[in-house]
Amino acid sequence: YDDRDGKIWMDGVLVDWRAANVHILSHALHYASSVFEGERAYNGRIFRSTDHSERLLNSGRLLEMDIPWSAAEIDRAKEQVLAANGLSDAYIRAIAFRGVGEEMGVASLGNPVRLAIAAWEWGAYYGAAREEGARLDMAKWRRPSPETIPSEAKAAGLYMICTMSKHAALARGCSDALMLDYRGYVAEATGANIFFVREGEVHTPLADCFLNGITRQTVLQLLRDMQVRVHERHILPDELDSFEQCWLTGTAAEVTPVRQIGRWHFEPGEMSRRVAAEYHRLVRA
Ligand code: PMP
Repeated sequence: YDDRDGKIWMDGVLVDWRAANVHILSHALHYASSVFEGERAYNGRIFRSTDHSERLLNSGRLLEMDIPWSAAEIDRAKEQVLAANGLSDAYIRAIAFRGVGEEMGVASLGNPVRLAIAAWEWGAYYGAAREEGARLDMAKWRRPSPETIPSEAKAAGLYMICTMSKHAALARGCSDALMLDYRGYVAEATGANIFFVREGEVHTPLADCFLNGITRQTVLQLLRDMQVRVHERHILPDELDSFEQCWLTGTAAEVTPVRQIGRWHFEPGEMSRRVAAEYHRLVRA
């Protein structure tokens, strides 16, 4: 993805896409000291832009990484990137990371914290599954305890097991993997949160050890507005049998129905369709 035209914002300036490089001895590359955001713009407007900028700053704080920009400056930089690339419907990726210091090692006291922002056109995350319903595999890896890693952060280190889980799922013909948490409760997919429906009520895992997605929060509000009863709680995989519908939420995934998780089957039903339609209406409003 490095050989194309366009501009990427790096540390306050727009640079050519092909020149947006970092040195091989950057701390982030060796020790996963980076935090990032995924956002979407619809009709030229970034959905919940400031919430994403603030989450980025907060992820940095959780890693004791002081990002030298304010949320308002980050918001403006994202606008600049969209304009420079002539984009109106796009995916935006901001990444803050520890660069190169005086010494090379685990400690990163003098290394600058750098920020880069890129944007590009990106269609449906799960492709045709957005209409047909995604098939998920059960992941072998579990979301770690919040005492093991700052699990609230959108930090690179948390994605190592996501990539491995997703590769295993793709090799089995699935779109993604469902990860359990360290206690064995249903947690999330590798880049999206999960919701279930039973007898007209919604059940979703309590976000106490994984990313409480901005799309998840948006969808919870939509459900409240629709007067749907929602249970945020611990869900055991044994319960998957009892759910009729299931969908995933995420900036990239938007609202994608799920038709299968391992041996369990779901109907992309009425509630999934309504939530997806309401979400699409809202992001373009
Ligand atoms: N969980 C993980 C692991 C993710 O990477 C994402 C995508 N950022 C989500 C959940 C959904 O978060 P959001 O709705 O904020 O995009």
